Amino acid sequence: MSYMENHIQMRLDPRLLVPGVKTIISVALNYYPSKQASGLSMYAQGQDYHEVVRERLHQLLEALNVEGRCFVDTAPVLERYWAWRAGLGWMGRNTLLILPHHGSTYFLGELFVMAEADSYDTPLARSCGDCHRCIEACPMGAISETGIDARRCISYLTIENRGPLPQELTLEDCFYGCDRCQQACPHLQHAIPTSEEAFLPSKEILEMSPSEWKNLTLEQYQHLFKGSAVKRAKFDGLKRNIEACKFHPE
Ligand code: SF4
Ligand code: SF4
Repeated sequence: MSYMENHIQMRLDPRLLVPGVKTIISVALNYYPSKQASGLSMYAQGQDYHEVVRERLHQLLEALNVEGRCFVDTAPVLERYWAWRAGLGWMGRNTLLILPHHGSTYFLGELFVMAEADSYDTPLARSCGDCHRCIEACPMGAISETGIDARRCISYLTIENRGPLPQELTLEDCFYGCDRCQQACPHLQHAIPTSEEAFLPSKEILEMSPSEWKNLTLEQYQHLFKGSAVKRAKFDGLKRNIEACKFHPE
């Protein structure tokens, strides 16, 4: 996660990233899947969100007819912060942006625009109240009142981490990412399935059985995950995760 420390000044001051920027427009695109292949986190069921969200942002920029640039999770931009500032949602104890009545299953993107807006939105206050369900649901004890310890987070360990998995870690059915702190959140109960077909799993991925996952070959991996965010873990990383996964009986 050391990349978070890169370009820290640009993260803190967007005018260093895009000189002349006057307004940041934050957008959120729903990925809550109506059908879900086991083994994969909700966000990784379909095509890589970077391309899908980027295309939508370019369409929006064109419709607004203003000069600007689009960003999706690849530049030093504090996405959750700007989405919060834009009034899209509030930061939950699980550190995710929670959209009121919609939950946290949203990809974020930004337009950096060279024009002033007529008016600006107001940030929302955190509305977790006395709820601690995400903290209680985390099997690694990674969430506390001060945030998430990424080194203990299964999402980090199964996606970004290039080393071995901790010996004490058992993966229960999900070998790419972890949704437990999202699933535990009462706000997810109101989630509406995405209408974006690109975020849904292919028939082939849906039909994979535990034994087929266990015997996954490089050729299958390349075919199944062409254009998918799952490639982030690389073939070796995915195989490492699958080996550590205690699949439910077929
Ligand atoms: S993604 Fe999983 S491991 Fe990470 S903080 Fe949430 S519940 Fe814990
Ligand atoms: S589970 Fe509860 S504490 Fe955690 S983010 Fe959701 S509302 Fe907040």
